[in-house]
Amino acid sequence: MSRRPILMIPGPVELPPAVQSAGAEPPVSHMDERFVTSFGDALRLMRQVWGAPSGQPFVVSGSGTLAMEMAAANLVEPEDRVLVTSSGVFGERFAQIFERHGARVEVVRAPLGEAVDPEAVRSALDRGRFKAMTITHVDTSTAVRTDPSPLAALAKERGVLTILDGVCSVGGEALHQAEWEIDVALTASQKALAAPPGLALVVASPDAMETWRRRKRPVRSYYADWGNWLPIMEGYEGGRPSYFGTPPVTLVRALAAALSLAAEEGMVQRVARHQRLGKAFRKGLGALGVVGVPASDGCAASTLSCAHVPDGVAVARLVAETATAGALIAGGLHPEIRSRSFRVGHMGAVDATMLLATVDALEQGLARCGHGFERGVGHAAAREVLES
Ligand SMILES: *Cc1c(COP(=O)(O)O)cnc(C)c1O
Repeated sequence: MSRRPILMIPGPVELPPAVQSAGAEPPVSHMDERFVTSFGDALRLMRQVWGAPSGQPFVVSGSGTLAMEMAAANLVEPEDRVLVTSSGVFGERFAQIFERHGARVEVVRAPLGEAVDPEAVRSALDRGRFKAMTITHVDTSTAVRTDPSPLAALAKERGVLTILDGVCSVGGEALHQAEWEIDVALTASQKALAAPPGLALVVASPDAMETWRRRKRPVRSYYADWGNWLPIMEGYEGGRPSYFGTPPVTLVRALAAALSLAAEEGMVQRVARHQRLGKAFRKGLGALGVVGVPASDGCAASTLSCAHVPDGVAVARLVAETATAGALIAGGLHPEIRSRSFRVGHMGAVDATMLLATVDALEQGLARCGHGFERGVGHAAAREVLES
């Protein structure tokens, strides 16, 4: 196999040609008029993609973890109470970030493979006076999707701010930030938006901005402080170049291209495409006798799949053989199943051809690892969904 394998991990992902060429252009000055236009476009398009017409977008160099830390640094003060709802590794990460910023954190955990139970959240919210609550939309360690809307409604009824970790969902799963009353919805450039890695993306509601404005103490992180970034975002959106830290000009232009593609496709269509891809991949896995980690189809993410390796198959070997056969997939991440699971991203610019090529490569990988199945059944099952 002389061609490189297609990148089907849960980020970074394959880039559409328009995004790749934007990212390949020589850097321009951050004062350049073309850059000012791209940055303004990216900010306006974020509101559209997030479903947050009155939200305040922030685009800052860094990964998704910085986006999480921005929410924590700007919204909590020491001794504030935060409820973290967790369906895997990234909920646990959010708990650590809030603790680092001095919050008193309580965690509601879903059993492995399940979404967070709204009843458990209701009773936790009723037990304590929380300032904020986090939700992981899609936990990338389990491929479990939690429906944010009922959880956000419970929090809002009690005046609790809601923060959505949408790092593996924004641009692939349905999101209506304003309608669902989510105060902060955050992601990173390299996942379902299909831009290169390197940008932390946050949209804050008017309530979140008001909570930040009314802080009693300064934000304890200089770099993450919205006070430093708000004038920059307002400047570029208003057509005025501004400086706090050098903007990642190349990445911002690639992001603007990626967001334009999302807007052109339409979010309803884009979400439906991801649903079809997710369903097709899960059907393919099922036909191969591979068992998914999400407990039901209802809580399985559209943007990635996570499955148990069949008995007798070693994860590292499966990943290597599948890459040789043309698709790069990822091993396990959740500590309970790290060495017994694998993950496949099908988000961003993925189409039916790429999905089927991945199923084919996985079939070859599984066969070379000694897993018994009838060759082609995974492909046929996935194709049936894609063609329906
Ligand atoms: C990838 C991911 C993160 C972390 O993002 P980085 O860009 O790797 O820092 C956080 N939460 C979720 C759900 C993710 O998928």
